[in-house]
Amino acid sequence: MREMLSETYERYRDVQDGRVADYIPALAEADSGWFGLSLTSATGHRFSFGDAQLPFSIQSISKAFVYALVVQELGHVEVRERIGVNNTGLPFNSVMAIELNGGRTMNPLVNAGALATTSLVPGTTWDEKWDFIHAGLSKFAGHELEIDERVYESEMETNTRNRGIARLLESYGHISLDPMQVTELYTRQCSLLVTAEDLATMGATLADGGDCPITGIDVVDPSVSRDVLSVMATNGMYEASGDWLFEVGMPGKSGVSGGIVTIAPGKGSLATFSPPLDAAGNSVRGIRATRHLSNKLGLNLFAST
Ligand code: GLU
Repeated sequence: MREMLSETYERYRDVQDGRVADYIPALAEADSGWFGLSLTSATGHRFSFGDAQLPFSIQSISKAFVYALVVQELGHVEVRERIGVNNTGLPFNSVMAIELNGGRTMNPLVNAGALATTSLVPGTTWDEKWDFIHAGLSKFAGHELEIDERVYESEMETNTRNRGIARLLESYGHISLDPMQVTELYTRQCSLLVTAEDLATMGATLADGGDCPITGIDVVDPSVSRDVLSVMATNGMYEASGDWLFEVGMPGKSGVSGGIVTIAPGKGSLATFSPPLDAAGNSVRGIRATRHLSNKLGLNLFAST
């Protein structure tokens, strides 16, 4: 397996397409050459290659795991009714996606739905809510995750659009907490530091029906994992989710710092990290490497042979 990862690394390491995100100033410092691959099986075996141990802020990938924790608390029906499951067909931070849907969010994996999901996190104070998110994502990863305070501060100084989205949701009555507190919680969850290895473990936890294969801890129920994987399949790669499912055939979630986590249900998870992004905000090397490995390993869920 390690040879297959190294072959994939060599194949795509020289790809020069894409641009490192710079709308959050601290993200612009990333090296466009960073490239890491990691795979964790549902039985807890791990294989990595390249910059798989380099920490980066999790960004949008946190949305899938916070959603899992919220569905675990509130249940399938309530969260579906409140947040939605359909693709917006619009960029991740779209305001039109709210306006066109009567003021409601459409899915938990773009900013509006993610802010609304984070507003549902249990806890009476901001600190309690933060502890819930931090502890929950750490359980998925199999160890305590740290925060990138620089990225957090950098995004807090520039996240006027996310504050606007949270205020707009408030105006429609579709957010359950003070919009500024929600934006702060959400920005903090996006600043948690992970490596490609951590992401592969987090994905393998979903692949294994919610049990972390490294620690054996039961993080969420199998029915919750199933819900998360379906919204990842339809919404995980922003407006390019259809292209992704067509080419890769598995649920995945990307983030603007360059991570992608992909899940083969029942089998395990592949994570890639490479900062240059395409126009939809997905890692260019990550997409190519995952597509290649999906084909090589026969992981496309829609393939009958
Ligand atoms: N923290 C980022 C934002 O809200 C995450 C975006 C992403 O990774 O798609 O703008």
